[in-house]
Amino acid sequence: MVVSKRIVLHFPKRMVDRPIVYRLIKDYNLEFNILKASVTPQEEGLMVLELKGKQEDYDKGIKYLTTAGVRIQSLSQDVFRNEERCTHCGVCITICPTDAFELDPSTRRVKFDNERCLACGLCILACPPRAMEVHF
Ligand code: SF4
Ligand code: SF4
Repeated sequence: MVVSKRIVLHFPKRMVDRPIVYRLIKDYNLEFNILKASVTPQEEGLMVLELKGKQEDYDKGIKYLTTAGVRIQSLSQDVFRNEERCTHCGVCITICPTDAFELDPSTRRVKFDNERCLACGLCILACPPRAMEVHF
């Protein structure tokens, strides 16, 4: 069975230069599409990937990543914004890897599109008034 999943990889600074994605293709026959890659202010590497391949290859690839020290964000989480807390400061706009936040130029308010959210958790840590919440 072929599976296709979107995942968020967080890898520590020491691994930023390692050919992680290359190994996924070469050793585990996985196809991928990089949706976003960045280095956060803490210099942790972050990559949003669409990964596709046979279920057994996918499982082995994920095992390789976790063994190598990569943290894979669970996408079963649901992220919400507490509208009463949000001050529309805009911090989340630059930090979100999937562009789920957007400034409405006419109202100067920040819109949140949770359809785009991959539950990486970065905005939850970064939001000054703690308006972003994850519900399990
Ligand atoms: S960082 Fe928090 S307070 Fe600021 S716009 Fe985003 S959700 Fe609202
Ligand atoms: S958790 Fe926050 S930063 Fe991460 S994808 Fe969702 S909205 Fe963007």
